[in-house]
Order: sequence, then C-alpha cells, then structure tokens
Amino acid sequence: MSARILYGKDFAAQIKESARVEIESLKNKFGVTPGLAVVIVGENPASQVYVRNKHKTCVELGINSTVVAMPETSTKEDLLAKIDELNADKNVNGILVQLPLPAEIKAHSEEILNRIDPLKDVDGFHPVNVGKLVTGSPALVPCTPAGCIEMLDLAGIKIDGKRAVIIGRSNIVGKPMLHLLMARHATVTVCHSHTKNLADVTREAEILVAAMGRPKFVTADMIREGAVVIDVGINRIAPKKLVGDVDFDAAVEIAGAITPVPGGVGLLTVAMLMKNVVTATKLQLKIS
Ligand code: NAD
Repeated sequence: MSARILYGKDFAAQIKESARVEIESLKNKFGVTPGLAVVIVGENPASQVYVRNKHKTCVELGINSTVVAMPETSTKEDLLAKIDELNADKNVNGILVQLPLPAEIKAHSEEILNRIDPLKDVDGFHPVNVGKLVTGSPALVPCTPAGCIEMLDLAGIKIDGKRAVIIGRSNIVGKPMLHLLMARHATVTVCHSHTKNLADVTREAEILVAAMGRPKFVTADMIREGAVVIDVGINRIAPKKLVGDVDFDAAVEIAGAITPVPGGVGLLTVAMLMKNVVTATKLQLKIS
C-alpha cells in the first residue's frame, strides 16, 4: 500500500492564507502593518536565495519587508549596532539574521542572535523564547518544527497520545520539535548520533521525524507500518539533486503518510516565518 504524500505547498498555502487574513485585520483594526527586517552579511549565494524568498513572501502577504545587506567585512560590533537600531525601530516587528555568518564573525553568532529583542525574535532562537517554549508560555517558536506541527493539524493527523520519535537533537529542529510534540501530548523519544540500536527505537514511532542531515539514512526497515514520516532533511547529493534523510521510494510503501524532499517541509518554513511575524506583532501590541 502506498502512503499519503503530504505536499508542503498545499499546507504552506493554507498557513500563508491564515497569516494574510491576520495581517489584514492588524491593518484594519489597529492601523499596524507588520514589518520584518532580514539582516544578511556577505555574498553567500544560498543565503541570498533564502532572503529573496522571504522578501517575496512578505510582499505577497502585505508585510513590510526590509533587507539589510551588510558587507562581508562587517564586524561583530557593526552587527550588534544594527540589531540595536532595529530593536528600537517601532516599524520593525520581526528581526532575523540570516545564517551562516561569514567565517570571520561566525564564532560570535550566538552573541549576535541573543542581542535581538526576544519579542522580535521571529526565528525563535533567543534563550528567552527557548525557555518559554520549554515551560509552555506563549513564545516565538523556530519556524521549521512549528511548521511540521501546523502541517499535522491541517492534515487532520492526531498527535495526542501518539508515540513519536525524533532523529536529531539540534536547537533549530530536534529540541523544539520535542517540546512541541510533548506539549501536544505525544510520548516522545529523541535519538541522536550516540543512540544505540536506532532502528529498534524508530520502529516504535507512529510519528517519525527525521532531522539529521544524512541522505536517505532512514530505510524502510526502520519505519513502523502506517507511520507518519516527516522528513526535515535537505541534502544536496549532486548540483541539482536534493534528497531527504529518508529513503522516500522505499518508505512510501510502508508509511501511512510521508513528506517528500524537495516539496515537503522546506516549503512550510517560510510560511511559518510569516506567521511568526504576525505573532511577534501581536505580542508587541499585547493582543491575542
Ligand atoms: P544538525 O547538524 O544541527 O543536527 C543533526 C542532528 O542529527 C544531531 O543532533 C545529530 O546527533 C543527529 N545525527 C547525525 N547523524 C546521526 C546518526 N547517524 N544517527 C542518529 N542521529 C544522527 O542539523 P539540523 O540543523 O537539525 O538539520 C538537520 C537537517 O534538516 C539538515 O539536512 C538540514 O538541512 C535540514 N533542515 C531543513 C530545514 C527546512 O526548512 N526544511 C530547516 C532546518 C534544517
């Protein structure tokens, strides 16, 4: 039996539409147009594509988008000063620093990201937002895992009571995913590079999230029959060939539902960023 394919574009369109409606209502009821500032340092071509994509989506939904392009030679102090300026700017509701930063300042990434006002931290990386996520307070949550939860809801897939397994424990995907699934009453196990007998654990999963960055690592024998498989991995195996962390062709025969790569989770991330800009604006206006 072949699995239901969870196409990211269908869910991303729904997430963006709900953001658009909220943006309209912020304009009409409060006279506020949400604003996003994306800081990009240097000329990294992949980062430029991501930033263009974010800008385009902002324009499409009616968010004021500012791209702050800074030279490759920018210092840590230059970035901190720019973030202070954006923190103080009332027209900017969300701030995002596109990663990775150039090699010369990469070591200061954490200090730079932590300078962003937590209420404007639309990537959800600030320790204040991480703490709120863990304690269950309203927070800005990293876009990729938040998008996965939205997708499950929109697809009508129940989380409550399910056995969930996440492969990967990064701050961007694995750890926030743990808290999001746990908050929705799943029983969650997080696996990582030191996990023994990985397949024994993953075979228990009714919801399996692969976020490890290893091309086609998750094979059919690691998947429980009928499981919902969310493939977060994006691995470039040739100049024009992207694959996920899951061996899709084999997994599709055993899973109940599965996201493809490309065309799956990747498309949800930008859509969720737009929702986070709306959430940040509402948090700043103290409205729910
Ligand atoms: P990361 O490198 O920070 O973390 C990878 C995690 O996988 C680590 O916790 C590690 O312990 C675990 N891992 C690695 N090898 C393993 C193994 N053999 N067995 C078990 N666990 C193993 O990566 P990340 O930032 O979380 O990203 C993971 C993947 O998701 C990457 O392919 C990345 O490109 C992709 N990603 C996609 C999106 C999106 O928008 N779809 C967003 C973020 C990340």
